[in-house]
Amino acid sequence: MTVVNRFLNYVSFDTQSSETVDTTPSTAKQMLLAQALKAECEAMGLIEISLDEHAYLMATLPPSPCTVHPVPTIGFIAHLDTSPDMSGKNVKPRIVENYDGKDIVLNEKENIVLSPKMFPELLQHTGEDLIVTDGTTLLGADDKAGIAEIMTAIQYLIDHPEIKHGKIRIAFNPDEEIGMGASKFDVALFGCEWAYTMDGGEIGELEYENFNAASAKVIVKGLNVHPGYAKNKMRNAGLIAMQFAGMLPATERPEHTEGYEGFFHLTGMTGTVEEATLSYIVRDHDRNKFEQRLKQLQEVTDYLNNIYNEVVKLEIKQQYRNMREIVEPQKHIIELAKNAMTAVGVTPIIRPIRGGTDGAQLSFKGLPCPNIFAGGLNFHGRYEFVSIQSMEKAVEVIVNIAKFVPLQA
Ligand SMILES: [Zn+2]
Repeated sequence: MTVVNRFLNYVSFDTQSSETVDTTPSTAKQMLLAQALKAECEAMGLIEISLDEHAYLMATLPPSPCTVHPVPTIGFIAHLDTSPDMSGKNVKPRIVENYDGKDIVLNEKENIVLSPKMFPELLQHTGEDLIVTDGTTLLGADDKAGIAEIMTAIQYLIDHPEIKHGKIRIAFNPDEEIGMGASKFDVALFGCEWAYTMDGGEIGELEYENFNAASAKVIVKGLNVHPGYAKNKMRNAGLIAMQFAGMLPATERPEHTEGYEGFFHLTGMTGTVEEATLSYIVRDHDRNKFEQRLKQLQEVTDYLNNIYNEVVKLEIKQQYRNMREIVEPQKHIIELAKNAMTAVGVTPIIRPIRGGTDGAQLSFKGLPCPNIFAGGLNFHGRYEFVSIQSMEKAVEVIVNIAKFVPLQA
């Protein structure tokens, strides 16, 4: 089966995850794809296959016989679920062959058009074959392209015993899109020295830096008095909250930052005279700058408490950390992926992620885990598409990584 056949099969499963429940998997339908993949692993002759009640599927491709020296066990991971942002039910994928660089009408009736005017990155794929939606759902290339690539690469290694490789583990997990993909991931059971998530976008993407992240809640307690008699008595919580927000640097917000620049992001606010709250997320790639930002919040809190007599409470919650500090000391993990790409003519594009990944959480659970492209674009919406040629390259990259590990060991 080709990577395309596999992909078209997997997107026929609706695996949308849900932010509103606490169970894992968040939606039972994710288990159906996990079960289908389990059967596929069995049919391929993989061993050590496990599927737990939380829809984490793992399997092993045993090492080639008689490798001379011990070879590290490595893994490849992709996620089963699709984004809660848009429906993934009744996906009707269509293949646009030999893309000509013009508008692609996804849905004539509803006038939904995938246009290079809106998405100039389309033009980098002229001459390629693109899989698109019918404009009513997302496609699910995030991350079923990743699943299809891993399964196809494993089958390729089975069919080509002349390629010598070590033990390879694969895992498919639920609920990545709601930030819970790593939460019940059994790193010890997976048993790899390192792994790669196949969950990036554009061909060439290789990511191992993400934000350090925390959320902060500011709660201001006011004192309400009849406004006619409020002199020297009233404390207006809403105004004190505004003062708090005004003391944070205006240029360090998401709308003014890019690359390695961190920010304070006001995600929500409520306020009356009696009580006001501000909700922030705080992000920075640099650990020291990140700590500095949290300190800054505390300083503003202290300043206002000094003026208004202990009215502001600050609650900080750590969310995730930059995996760079785990991955970078083990340069070979990145070098291997880079070499695997350049060997098939793909130029590695290394950029910091302005967000988090499951790989970051896995890295801190003891499994260093950079992210490699799966080839899709415009994730989480109706304009999502994937290039067949990019998917084929991703398969070759996985095969090469498997092939290069014993040579590197
Ligand atoms: Zn994804």
